[in-house]
Amino acid sequence: MKTAIYSVHKFERDYLLQANNSRHELILLEETLTVSTVKLAAGCQAICIFVSDKITAAVLDKLYDAGISCIALRSAGYNHVDIAAAKKQRIRLARVPQYSPYSVAEHATALMLALNRQIIHAHNRINEQNFSLDGLTGFDMHGKTVGIIGTGKIGSQLASIMHGFGCNIVAYDTVQNKQITTAYDMSYLDLKTLCHQADIISLHLPLNNETNHIICQESMGWMKKGVMIINTSRGGLIHTGDIIVALKSGHVGYFGMDVYEEEEGLFFEDHSLDILQDDVFARLSTFRNVIITSHQAFLTETSLKNIAATTVYNLDCFEQGTLSGNELNM
Ligand code: NAD
Repeated sequence: MKTAIYSVHKFERDYLLQANNSRHELILLEETLTVSTVKLAAGCQAICIFVSDKITAAVLDKLYDAGISCIALRSAGYNHVDIAAAKKQRIRLARVPQYSPYSVAEHATALMLALNRQIIHAHNRINEQNFSLDGLTGFDMHGKTVGIIGTGKIGSQLASIMHGFGCNIVAYDTVQNKQITTAYDMSYLDLKTLCHQADIISLHLPLNNETNHIICQESMGWMKKGVMIINTSRGGLIHTGDIIVALKSGHVGYFGMDVYEEEEGLFFEDHSLDILQDDVFARLSTFRNVIITSHQAFLTETSLKNIAATTVYNLDCFEQGTLSGNELNM
């Protein structure tokens, strides 16, 4: 199947080519998918997109006109896709629902530890031959209460890691997972009680109308002073303006973010020669107790291998007219 792959990054190129093994005719494009770049998919039956490619109704109209009948997402999250509009156009959508929950849960843990033990500041001091320890005191993870919001594939994996650290685990989800409750001595609470109890809160929810800004002035008001918040899910789960206020007052003591509400056009690209235009992001990057990574929680060899393999499988199923089990709009 002739497929235009948008937003191809160097880190994933070889994985895609290897998984494809010349099965499909892949057109590798560095460009992001927009109304004006749809033309690059001329002659293709399918396109393949990354989290930075937005599938709006306007883009779908153009894709339909260009004869595109299938879209493969190289991601688990799909908040960047107008699923209802794709259904209307009868364009098939398939994602990669699972590639490595370990990768994201481990990155969330890396952010927790780096914030707690001030690894970035400690390393910078060493570079300046400053070997003093003052100001670098952290806390034992053992015995702390970790609140996991969203206990699906990634949240459950984080529960396993935190259990290994000797943390108390509390969780909030609309669906309760009995297996992990028993395995990790975990209890489900309502959101307010979780916020009251947790020393560390990690978000593992999809972004949708119900979860948008779930962390806001009100919910942060329920949290302990000095709480640590980790977001490796989607930027829109947190009201960025509200968390800046809470960081300035010291109510939020640490913030680890791998995703940002306005990451589109900023993350995944080298802007080192540009003047930063986003004043909110600029403010966030000034806090000594904030660590930002550029949506890289998924970025492990295992994830890239699995994303590529499932993407090629989804293309196989599109071509054969069979169901992959990864459909979003069937
Ligand atoms: P999942 O579907 O397995 O789990 C999501 C959980 O959220 C489910 O248990 C579900 O019941 C719960 N949930 C949904 N809506 C809710 C609501 N309104 N209130 C309470 N709970 C709710 O998903 P997953 O694989 O664990 O991934 C979680 C999120 O992580 C994805 O949606 C994606 O946005 C993000 N993600 C980020 C990266 C990254 O690189 N940063 C990589 C992969 C996934």
